[in-house]
Amino acid sequence: MQSRSSASLEYMRDGDSEFEIGERFARETSRLDGEQLDALSDSFCQILKAVGEDISREGLLKTPVRAARAFEFLTQGYRQRVEDIVNGAIFDSDASEIILVKDIELYSMCEHHLLPFIGRAHVAYIPNGKVIGLSKVARIVDVFARRLQIQENLTTQIADALMEALRPNGVAVVIDAKHLCMMMRGVEKQNSVMKTSCLLGSFKDDARTRSEFLSLLKD
Ligand code: ZN
Repeated sequence: MQSRSSASLEYMRDGDSEFEIGERFARETSRLDGEQLDALSDSFCQILKAVGEDISREGLLKTPVRAARAFEFLTQGYRQRVEDIVNGAIFDSDASEIILVKDIELYSMCEHHLLPFIGRAHVAYIPNGKVIGLSKVARIVDVFARRLQIQENLTTQIADALMEALRPNGVAVVIDAKHLCMMMRGVEKQNSVMKTSCLLGSFKDDARTRSEFLSLLKD
């Protein structure tokens, strides 16, 4: 706790809310250092050579550095923490009905092939005295999506994180995604969508809550 609050001080600007400081802290600390970026960039050089490319041709001159920057972005979730992201965005509330954030755009990378999977996440919870800003739900999705993933684990990690941050009566996460490792290679099934779900608390235990959630998803 001590080190975290003193670390956040560096990211303070006059007039910022606790929320804005948290945002800046999460953004700045998610970068790689120079040495890590160089290593990544060298690795991309090796990949280009290994596939038979001429790394001195004009179009590829900056590719290793650009690809390293892209990978830094796509894996920034490893360097972010849910607690920094939700910091300052949890509020007291008497709400007791299902809160659903639907159709959150999701971009992640399959850990088996390092190819993207793209889809939508639907996240619901039933408050137990606390609610969270809606944009933060999307940010929690990104923290876990921007790592190397399999869809099943991504779904569970989002649900567990929300459970831990809010201690709600229940959490439900459903993800629909298309996997480029299936679409571009191998079986080349262009239109198959994978669906995963994780139901916790009252979504798991109470059939009526679950069916209300499923009917909200269809609207
Ligand atoms: Zn894959």
